Amino acid sequence: MQTLSISPCHQKPRLPILVLPMIQDVLHRRFGFTQFRPKQEAICQAVTDGHDALVVMPTGAGKSLCYQVPGLARGGTTLVISPLVALIEDQVQALLHRGIRAGRIHSGRAREDSRDTFRAYLKGELEFLFIAPERLAVPGFSEMLHKHPPTLIAIDEAHCISQWGHDFRPDYRLVGERLQGLPRIPMIALTATATDRVQADICTQLKLRQPKLFIHGFRRENLAIRLIESLPSERTGKMMETLLEADRLPAIVYAPTRKKSEEIAGALGGKLRAAAYHAGMEATERESVQARFLEGSLDVIVATIAFGMGIDKRNVRTVVHAALPSSLEGYYQEIGRAGRDGLPSVALLLHGFSDRKTHEFFLDQDELDETQRKYRMDQLNAIQEYTRGFDCRMLQLIRHFGDLADGLKKCGICDRCAPVGDHRVMDELERETAALVLASLHGQGGQAVGRLFTEAGTALPKVTRSGFERVLSALARANLIEMENAEFEKGGETIAFRRVHLLPAGRKIQGPDLAMIEIDGAAMGAPRGGSSSRTRTRKPSATVRPSSLEATGNPRLFEELRTWRREEARKRGVPAFRILSDRVLLEICDSLPGSEQELLSVPGIGPKIVAQYGADLLARTRPDH
Ligand code: ADP
Ligand code: MG
Repeated sequence: MQTLSISPCHQKPRLPILVLPMIQDVLHRRFGFTQFRPKQEAICQAVTDGHDALVVMPTGAGKSLCYQVPGLARGGTTLVISPLVALIEDQVQALLHRGIRAGRIHSGRAREDSRDTFRAYLKGELEFLFIAPERLAVPGFSEMLHKHPPTLIAIDEAHCISQWGHDFRPDYRLVGERLQGLPRIPMIALTATATDRVQADICTQLKLRQPKLFIHGFRRENLAIRLIESLPSERTGKMMETLLEADRLPAIVYAPTRKKSEEIAGALGGKLRAAAYHAGMEATERESVQARFLEGSLDVIVATIAFGMGIDKRNVRTVVHAALPSSLEGYYQEIGRAGRDGLPSVALLLHGFSDRKTHEFFLDQDELDETQRKYRMDQLNAIQEYTRGFDCRMLQLIRHFGDLADGLKKCGICDRCAPVGDHRVMDELERETAALVLASLHGQGGQAVGRLFTEAGTALPKVTRSGFERVLSALARANLIEMENAEFEKGGETIAFRRVHLLPAGRKIQGPDLAMIEIDGAAMGAPRGGSSSRTRTRKPSATVRPSSLEATGNPRLFEELRTWRREEARKRGVPAFRILSDRVLLEICDSLPGSEQELLSVPGIGPKIVAQYGADLLARTRPDH
């Protein structure tokens, strides 16, 4: 390449701004489009005028045009950096098809062809030159750019620059550095997904100069977002209810694991034409499932995240998430696959307290450095906040993506704006239950759900288990309480349970405010079938320390108290956590109460416990013991 002779007249003489073709003209004559889509015009104008720009708009919004029109309007060659050979090929073909002179240089092409393209660039014959970021490091290429600078540089899929983005490409990160030293050339970076942090990173890495920010179009008018908090065992039923509503098919269900995708496909298969799709299947089988879904002979594809990239099926009526996704970015991209045809569509997210635990488990499996781990935890927190948020769902997403130009009006169709029949304020029994739960948590450490339910049941015999669960969910959504997963061990079995903690807002809330809290589902009088909060898993080891608990300085006493508790639980025929939680036992180990009064001051212990077990406990904690 270095042997090429370099033509001195690469660039056309720069024309005064007024004589440049108007961007509308370029749009009509070169692309044959009648009008700009929303925001395209403002972006094209700014970039044509020589401003740097960052464009964040959803997939399909028409970002390519935002550099193509300015490129043609400015004259000379636009250098386009794109991460994938396949994307480059698509874009170049589309431009050539319109009679626009585009070329590309990448490793997938024959040397001869790249050489011809190189030559054409030097002669000033190309309107667009596409490269992958690696090309900038190839000897001779940067030199060529310095001698014959392009008139515009476009960086597509710019989120690949940021290590905070989900497709980080180290070579992308070096683009800014490798372009250093070029004369001042306007630069436009484009991407479909970028949080505030990624946006800032892109601007810094590329050294954009006072970039104009265009962050638009995250609102999806035809997408009704619904969230349902539910136990994993209830979810297939819930999604079936939604999928059987009128006009809810075809649908994509996103499952958290391959196994789940098969289970769900099997369960839905009774009433719908459903099939699993995941990376563990034979390629031919996967292709056949995809083809059947695309042609319409399958109603539901139950996929892991491996499905959907680059799939253009415009009439998907419903996207279901069978569990909490790991980030709002991924979630938004996936729900975006519903309703591309603009017709009313639904995005249903089924989630519950156990989902976070699952994510944390997988996070622990990955070998992440501290920063990455923190970032992933932040993403998890953000999506969990979203599930709890009381605001319009669409609005929460729009805000998350920093689309401040949006009018920020409520969507009117999500489950927050228009509760799907099921949402209502609490009835009297539910309010009493809520007040009771808050009262028994007051001044105490966490309490097990089962124990709280027993307490509530004693005071309010009409309380059903499922009604009680809905009250807890409502309180958790209102940020009054928080649920935590814990486990205890009984007879060689590890039994998982949930513990509830009071949050600061729950401490302060007054009776009348409870009337404002929204709850979902049928009223308490109508139970929805038994839902146990306990899940049992057999573990080989006889004693399993609860992982979430901090160690005590007095392990011998802790073991002794646990043995006593196990005995007591056996005698009474109740689970051990109904006696006392591990957390309370640890508190006892650490504070070593010597009298009933001291025992009462241990968080989690009330007069009833002192009366029942005081003597037993003190017998083990007194110094003379
Ligand atoms: P993005 O990069 O934002 O995902 P593209 O640039 O690939 O989207 O554009 C998506 C489609 O929209 C393309 O087929 C493109 O030709 C078309 N398109 C873009 N702008 C317009 C417009 N103003 N009028 C008509 N079609 C347009
Ligand atoms: Mg694009």
